[in-house]
Amino acid sequence: MQLLTHPRAGRFAPHAPRVRVSFEFFPPKTEEMEAALWEAIGRLAPLAPAFVSVTYGAGGSTRERTHATVRRIIAETLLAPAAHLTCVAASRAEIDGVIRSYVAAGVRHIVALRGDPAGGVAERYIPHPQGYINAADLAAGIRRIADIEVSVAAYPEKHPDSPSVEADIDMLKAKVDAGATRAITQFFFDNDLYFRYLDRVRARGITIPIVPGILPVQNFKQTRVFAERCGASMPASLADRFAGLDNDAPTRRLIAAAVAAEQVMDLVDRGVTDFHFYTMNRADLVFAICHLLGVRACEEKAA
Ligand SMILES: Cc1cc2nc3c(=O)[nH]c(=O)nc-3n(C[C@H](O)[C@H](O)[C@H](O)COP(=O)(O)OP(=O)(O)OC[C@H]3O[C@@H](n4cnc5c(N)ncnc54)[C@H](O)[C@@H]3O)c2cc1C
Repeated sequence: MQLLTHPRAGRFAPHAPRVRVSFEFFPPKTEEMEAALWEAIGRLAPLAPAFVSVTYGAGGSTRERTHATVRRIIAETLLAPAAHLTCVAASRAEIDGVIRSYVAAGVRHIVALRGDPAGGVAERYIPHPQGYINAADLAAGIRRIADIEVSVAAYPEKHPDSPSVEADIDMLKAKVDAGATRAITQFFFDNDLYFRYLDRVRARGITIPIVPGILPVQNFKQTRVFAERCGASMPASLADRFAGLDNDAPTRRLIAAAVAAEQVMDLVDRGVTDFHFYTMNRADLVFAICHLLGVRACEEKAA
């Protein structure tokens, strides 16, 4: 069979570095969405991710739902949850209360973020007068309260608020100096952008893992809107691959799987061992990509 003789087949040899994955979910709004989330968690949990993270809605709007989802993960699974937390529209005292309640619930990992203005990314971000001013400030606040893991965001194509990539990397450095131990990137589709960014980050003396955030294209139109909003570029070749398939969902799904497989396999070939998947609370595509990466369900490994 061709796959066995493919040069990439050797990466799953016992001496090959093990691929580690993590999964990001968002807190559900309705009972139906809750059921879909738990179906996705049920399917992905046997892959033994390093952690699963749960986002925090714009303007702190999902505080209760994020907390409830994280609590249920702790109560009903063996997964290690990472709770996202933003600085938006809350005082330090309020945010410190959220951090303490996470820690009391058993959370040992927070993804510290500034967040976006309540009115959307087009608005200028103005910190709450008594709040944490940005993610670095929040990371330091978390570390003052508890000795837990702190992950932060990184932007291979720079954050839209940043005047330059260098200024953006200065911000990442500030987050690391404040205690961040891992950065997870904004999604990207051109791997060269990630490696160029990584070179600049390492040249700046930042040594923490910069884990690529992978967004499988479950919905091309929605992905394009997300990308525009957060300053991630969409290569013309990607749009071309989905062109003409607006009314052909099965083919779109196959293309999405092929595109994501191509991206992660190239990253593996270039030495990447850790991947963070934006699951959009759906398991199928992510499960398939993990399988390609050699990440298998625990029972299968034991067999
Ligand atoms: C992995 C990941 C997970 C995310 N999860 C969530 C989530 O759960 N909920 C949510 O609402 N959003 C989330 N976001 C989006 C994030 O909140 C936005 O991108 C937000 O605009 C910036 O957050 P940050 O933590 O990167 O901010 P920061 O790192 O604080 O700042 C981002 C940029 O703003 C500029 N900046 C900030 N402060 C200064 C300063 N003092 N001087 C100069 N420039 C400054 C810099 O250019 C900096 O790079 C996530 C993003 C990523 C990549």
